[in-house]
Amino acid sequence: SMQIRSGSRSSAPCPRAFVRFIKVIAGHGTGLLHFWMILASAIRQVRGLGDNKFEVVTSLRTFIFRAEREGERQEWMETLQTATRPPACGSQKRSGTLPHASSTNKRGLLELRGYKGRVLVSLAGSKVRLLELTAANIRDLDRRGFEINTPFKNFCFTAESEREKQEWIEAVKESIAETLYDYEVAEKIWFKEANRSCADCRAPQPEWASVNLGVVICKKCAGQHRSLGPSISKVRSLKLDSSVWSNELVELFLEVGNKNANSFWAANLPLEEDLYREASAEQRATFIRRKYRERKYTTHHGPLYLLLCVKALCAAVVSSDVLQTMALVFSGADVMCATGDPTYSTPYLLAQRAGQKLQMEFLHQNKLCAFPRLDQWSENACLPEASIFMDGFLYISSSSTKATLDRRGRDDMARRWCTLEGGFLSYYESERSPSAIGRVDATEVISLAVNHTETMTGAGAVFTVELYLQTERLLIFGAETQETQHDWIQALTKCFIPPKVEGLVRKESELIGRLHYKEGHDLYYWRMGWFMLEGSSLHFSSGEEEGEEEVLQLKQLQELSKHFSPPIQVLLMVACGRTVYIHGFNKMDFTVWHSAIKLAAGTDGNALGDQQLTKNGVPIIVDSCIAFVTQYGLCQEGVYQRPGNPGRVSHLLEEFTHDARNVKLREKEHQLQDVTDTLKSFLSQAEDALLTKELYPYWVSALDEKSERQRVKKYSAFIESLPKINRSTLEALLQHLYRIQQCSHLNRMPSEKLASVFSSCLFQTRGQTTQEISVVHDLISNYITLFSVSLKCSCGVFFSFLMCCLSFVPGSRDYNLDFCLLNNIKKCRCLHTILLYLK
Ligand SMILES: [Zn+2]
Repeated sequence: SMQIRSGSRSSAPCPRAFVRFIKVIAGHGTGLLHFWMILASAIRQVRGLGDNKFEVVTSLRTFIFRAEREGERQEWMETLQTATRPPACGSQKRSGTLPHASSTNKRGLLELRGYKGRVLVSLAGSKVRLLELTAANIRDLDRRGFEINTPFKNFCFTAESEREKQEWIEAVKESIAETLYDYEVAEKIWFKEANRSCADCRAPQPEWASVNLGVVICKKCAGQHRSLGPSISKVRSLKLDSSVWSNELVELFLEVGNKNANSFWAANLPLEEDLYREASAEQRATFIRRKYRERKYTTHHGPLYLLLCVKALCAAVVSSDVLQTMALVFSGADVMCATGDPTYSTPYLLAQRAGQKLQMEFLHQNKLCAFPRLDQWSENACLPEASIFMDGFLYISSSSTKATLDRRGRDDMARRWCTLEGGFLSYYESERSPSAIGRVDATEVISLAVNHTETMTGAGAVFTVELYLQTERLLIFGAETQETQHDWIQALTKCFIPPKVEGLVRKESELIGRLHYKEGHDLYYWRMGWFMLEGSSLHFSSGEEEGEEEVLQLKQLQELSKHFSPPIQVLLMVACGRTVYIHGFNKMDFTVWHSAIKLAAGTDGNALGDQQLTKNGVPIIVDSCIAFVTQYGLCQEGVYQRPGNPGRVSHLLEEFTHDARNVKLREKEHQLQDVTDTLKSFLSQAEDALLTKELYPYWVSALDEKSERQRVKKYSAFIESLPKINRSTLEALLQHLYRIQQCSHLNRMPSEKLASVFSSCLFQTRGQTTQEISVVHDLISNYITLFSVSLKCSCGVFFSFLMCCLSFVPGSRDYNLDFCLLNNIKKCRCLHTILLYLK
C-alpha cells in the first residue's frame, strides 16, 4: 500500500503490482547480475516448455524462464503475448513511463536459465525489464519518501506514514545485504566493462583486486601487488574474501574501476613500457613497482605542499568526487591528517558529516596506507630477502584466541614439525608428512610477542611466542627451551624486519613490530615505524637510517591515553616534553600494544624503579608531595611533624600506587599533614631504603671522621655508588628539605628536627639512633656541596617558594635572599624577573 514514483523524472504513480514485487524481493532477497531491456516489438515468439518453463525468443537471444507454478507460467505467457501484439487503433502512443492498461503490466520473480537465484521481470507497456537489486543502494529522501538507486535507474517511493517508510527501508536493506553475500562479487565488479580485464596487464576476467587502489587485477599481477606490501596495495580476492566486500566497497569499484584508476596511475605511460599478458614475472614486478610504488606514470603536479595538500583533501572528501580524493591520497596527501577542525578532526569525519559514503569507504581502505609525498619519494624500506631456512619441532596452538593464553596454561598445543623457508612458516603433522597443516606468510607478521616465562601445556612447559598477522589472525607457537625460542624469533624477525632496524631485536625484547606513528615536529603525518618493548623502555625507529633508534621511558610518561580518532584508535604518549602517537594495523595488534605499554608504564611493585617517574627520574609520588609541600607548607609551623589522618594517608598512597600520573594534589582537597605523611610512608615502605640497607654501615661509619669536610667527601662517594634512581630521588628530597630549613624562622623546622623526622624513612630503621639522625642532618645541611655539580635551575619551585615567603613576611622588600642558591640566579631568566619585581 504505497505510491511509487517512477525512476525517471516522471511522478506518475505506478500500478500497485509493482509494490507486490518489492515485497517479494524484501522477503526473499535476490541479486542483480545484469540488466536487460527487451522491447516488446523485438520479441519474436513466446513459447511454453516443460517443467513450468517458457522461452522468450528475440532476434538476438533466447531467454528461458521458469515460474514457480503452472498458473503463474500461463499468466506470464499470456501477458507477454498480449504485449507483443501491435497496439490497437486509437490507443495512446505516448511516453513509456506513463501508466498503461493493466493487461500489459506485470511484475514478478522468475528463474532465468544460466543465473543463480531469480530475477525480477517487469513488463510495462512495450518494455520488458530484467532487473535485480544487488548493486542497489537505498537512500532516505524525506518524511515518507525513499529512493532505491541501482546503477541503471533510480526508483522513488512514497510510503503512507513515516513508520511504514522505516519498515520498508529496513526490509529492502536487509535483502540487499543478503544478496551481496550470496552472490559472487566478481560478477558485480565485472558489471563495469573496464573491470573485465586486468588493470595492469589486461588479462581477461581478473579475479583479484587491490581494495585500496581501486583496481581489479589478474592472479599474476596480484602476486606482484602483494610484494609491494599492504601499505601500498591491499590485495583481496573477488571470489574468496567475500567478507571484505561491503556494499560501499563494491560501489566504490563500480565508481572508480580500472579505467578511472588508470587515468591516474597510467596517465603518462609510454607505449613501450606497457605491460602485456604474456610478460615474465620479472617484467611484471618491475612494471608494478614503477607504476604504484614509484608512481612513475602518474601526472606530476610539481611538489605538493603539506598545507595545500591537507586543504585540497578536506575539500575533496566532502564532494562526490572520489577520483579527486584518490589522486590526492595517491600523491601523498595524508588520509589521517589533522583537518584543523576540532570536531571533524580527520578527513574521514568530514566525509561522514557530508554523507559521502564512497569517500568514507575509500578513506577507510587507505587509512593505513603510506604513500610518501611525490616530491619526497625515495628508494628505501625494501623488504629483506627471505632466504632464511630453519626447521625443528614446535608446539603450535590450534585455537587462535588470546583468551586461552591468559589462563595459567593451555592444553591445546600440539607438537608439530615446523619449517621456515622462503618466508613461510609451515607446520606439519610429522617430519615425514608430505603436506603442511598450516602455513603463515612471515611478511604478514605485524607484531611478535615473546613470553619469557614458561607456559604450562598438556605436553609440558614451553616458551611461547605470539605472532599477530595483518589479517587479524593470531598464531601461537611454543619452544621447549628459551634458546630454541630465541633462535626462532631471530629467524622469523629477519623475514619481516628490514636489516636496518634488526638491531631492535634483542634477547629481552617482549614485543616487536610495526606501528604507524607520528611525533614531535611532524604531527601531521603518520609514518611507519618499528617498535620494540623491553621492560619499561619503548624503542623505535623509522627504519630510514641504520642504527637510528629512539627510546621512550614509559615509566616517565606524563601522559598515556587512548583516543578514538575515527576510523582508528590512537594511543598518545607524552614523555619529557615529547609527544608520540601510535596506531596499529588492526584492532588486534593495537590492543596488544596498548595493554603492553599500559602495563610497562604503570606501577608494578614497591621498589623506587617500579614507580611512575618524572622526567628527572624521581618517582611521581615523591615529586608531587614535594611540590605540594613547597607550595603550601614552606611557612607552616611544624611542617612534617604534625601527623595526618591514617585513613586518608593510606587512601592517597593507594591512589598513587594505582596511577600516580593522574593524582593531582590540590590545596582544597588535600591536607598538608596527609601529604607529608604520604611521602614519609612511601619512603618507609619502599622495597629498599633510599640510602640502601647495603650501604647502612658505611653511612654510619662516616661519622668517625671528625671534620665535616672529610665526612661530606665520604657521603659524596656513597651517593655516587647509589642506584641512579635513588640518587635522583635523594637529590630532590634533600633539595626540598634544604629549602624547608632555610625558612625555619617561619616553620620552626631546622635541619636537626627534619633529620630526626626523616632518618627513619631514609634508613628504614625502626628506632632512630643519634648516628642516623646525624648523617641525615649532615646531608641536609651540605646539600649544596653534595650536589653542586648538578645544581640546576628549578625556577617553578623557586618561584612558588619566593612568592610564598613574600606573602607571609610583612615588608618583605628587604627579605633576606642571601642563600647560596642565588649564585645561580644570573643563569636563570625566570628568577631574574622575580628579582626585578622585588627591587
Ligand atoms: Zn594482470
